[in-house]
Amino acid sequence: MKNLIGKRYGRLTVIENTGKKAHSRENIYLCQCDCGNTIEVRSGLLTQGKTKSCVCLYKDTRKKDLSELNQAKKYIDGIHIDLFDGRSNKNNTSGFKGVSRHGNGYRAKITVKGRVYLGTTRATKKEAYKDRLKFEEELLPRKGEK
Ligand SMILES: [Zn+2]
Repeated sequence: MKNLIGKRYGRLTVIENTGKKAHSRENIYLCQCDCGNTIEVRSGLLTQGKTKSCVCLYKDTRKKDLSELNQAKKYIDGIHIDLFDGRSNKNNTSGFKGVSRHGNGYRAKITVKGRVYLGTTRATKKEAYKDRLKFEEELLPRKGEK
């Protein structure tokens, strides 16, 4: 088993082995990010370069996307997208408003004036949710729609 302690991956420095195991049986390491946060990461994500920071790098690189999403947020009753994560919503099966499971993926769905619009099937909820936001932007009135 490789010892990762003291190694750097992107903005992360591996501090210690938490002693926990991921489902994949990889060790889970406690890492300190350059921004000061500490996070627990399984070894594979580090060694494969998939995790290079806590959320700060992700935030930096996704800023543009996020600002687009923030724009779109106006149209979803002021509910933050993040709040959908891990929550169930009685109206759908994905936790994202207007997104439901379809086959192996997810797709957006919106009903406007009795007409149903369906998005392409996407691999992730978030992609499908973007479709949904696009639908909302294109199809719904900008204000007062519920
Ligand atoms: Zn960070």
